[in-house]
Amino acid sequence: MTDSDREIIDYLGFDLPGENQLAQARRTALLRGLEGSAEPTSLVSYTSAGLVLIIGPEPSALSVAESLVGSVTCFVLATDAIDNTLSTPMGYEKRQVAGQDVPIIFGKPEKILGHLGSFEVIIERDQREVELAKVMNLASGGIDVVLDLARDPLLRTELLPPGYFAPAGDSSRLDQALSDIPELAGIFEKPRYVQYNPDICAHSERGIAGCTQCIDVCPAGSLTSLAGRISVDPHLCHGMGSCAAVCPTGAMTYAYPNLARTLDSLRRLLSSFREATDLSAVLLLFDSEHAGSTVKGVVANMAADVIPWRIEEVGSTGIEVWLSAVAYGARSVVIVTTTHTPPSTRTALESQVKLAGVLLEGLGYSSNYVRLIDVEHFSDSANLAVDPSSEIRVAATYGGIDEKRVALRFAFDHLLQVGNASKDLIDLPTGSPFGTVNIDTDACTLCMACVSVCPSGALDDDKEQPRLTFLEWNCVQCGICERACPEGAISLHPRLLLNAEQRMQVRTVNEESPFLCIDCGKPFTTQSMVSKMEEKLKGHRMFQGDGLKSLHRCEDCQLKAMF
Ligand code: SF4
Ligand code: SF4
Repeated sequence: MTDSDREIIDYLGFDLPGENQLAQARRTALLRGLEGSAEPTSLVSYTSAGLVLIIGPEPSALSVAESLVGSVTCFVLATDAIDNTLSTPMGYEKRQVAGQDVPIIFGKPEKILGHLGSFEVIIERDQREVELAKVMNLASGGIDVVLDLARDPLLRTELLPPGYFAPAGDSSRLDQALSDIPELAGIFEKPRYVQYNPDICAHSERGIAGCTQCIDVCPAGSLTSLAGRISVDPHLCHGMGSCAAVCPTGAMTYAYPNLARTLDSLRRLLSSFREATDLSAVLLLFDSEHAGSTVKGVVANMAADVIPWRIEEVGSTGIEVWLSAVAYGARSVVIVTTTHTPPSTRTALESQVKLAGVLLEGLGYSSNYVRLIDVEHFSDSANLAVDPSSEIRVAATYGGIDEKRVALRFAFDHLLQVGNASKDLIDLPTGSPFGTVNIDTDACTLCMACVSVCPSGALDDDKEQPRLTFLEWNCVQCGICERACPEGAISLHPRLLLNAEQRMQVRTVNEESPFLCIDCGKPFTTQSMVSKMEEKLKGHRMFQGDGLKSLHRCEDCQLKAMF
């Protein structure tokens, strides 16, 4: 076996078959894709002493404890018995299990927070909520592993925190838990999968709610809204990456590997294959843990222009990667899902693939260039059939880009340049990350409330005169401006302008002459604002007759007029 063979097997988990010229070109292309080193990703660690809490009715909890006491220290939170322990000096009792004392406490679990090595369990005792660790004289968060035997477990996220086991009455899952738990003492590390840049996040501004896309798709509950920003708990994160895939601004990014590394690898891979064969490849994105063996079998029976590329998690790529792969010359991009793909990740992938299809069609390409295929339906190579005529004539060469919207701009520009788009714009589904804002100029008073909250700088004002401007490419359709406008003058319109110049141009969306102070002549507001105030205050006794004139004076002259 050569070093190259080993490198391919290490990466894909299997070798690429075939000796003919096409197969050789595929191997070379894959090795080109693997060149270079990824940015190192920081690590997240868990320290566990292996203390296990078993939650459940006393008989079953003690029976499960019997399987564990030889290898780990455990104690029981019995959920079905009458609590006699409040009167005991220790606050808990002990039971003999397999010759060892197992502490048992009675109570109803109310809340479980944390992860392997640091669980905090809140129970109800004596009609009060108390932390279990305190009752047991442990340090706060001192429970390392939780085995929850309830049929209806307390934690219900699609992906549970590491160290929390909830077989929910399934005996094979219980057996698996009993075999995994003894291994969970020690220090464990995993990559910090995602990075968050609050400076470009559109979650909220000045208390007005905006984007929640990352929170909505996270299957592990590792993202929460905290003080107007997104809080990422890296210990709960399983690295599915759909948060980064759906993020409209690029504030949430996948770090394992980062975007620049992914794009550069795919560019080298696709261009190498094209240069050697004059053909465009079909790119298969899969994760080896769950789809690897099926992909290996399918690839063995397909033409060598199908190139598998392993990614950490299929949910971690989005339109910036797929459209760039098409711009780099892929004839098709296929994302392989499995039964292990969490439903929320699958839903996110489906909506992103749909968006990619609408964009591609609008750009003059086939909408099924990017497809999602379940591994179950993957054995049929007909599923991968693509129209060979739908190829990019000239492949893009851009690279070194680690910003989502920059990568998207390059992909759009290239696909437009070499394609046959016949439209001026593409109307997009609601929730898409591109679009315009429609301003009802009759209602807008140019108060600039929208400008003060726009997180992406799409809306701006003119320091010299009452003028509202808009840069369409910067708008991520977060809706914060729509909610901030006191006049209800803003509505969103998701779309993509195909004229690159117009897309990047600052345009005026409303303007007026300034209203001049009747005393000093200084411009201080707009006529529409004055009219709006007159309308609102017309019944007010202070603003009758000459009183109305105060609305026509600047702040300084109002003060002068009062004294
Ligand atoms: S902009 Fe990105 S990081 Fe911010 S809330 Fe939306 S999806 Fe999350
Ligand atoms: S213009 Fe409005 S919808 Fe667009 S990014 Fe700014 S606040 Fe969000």
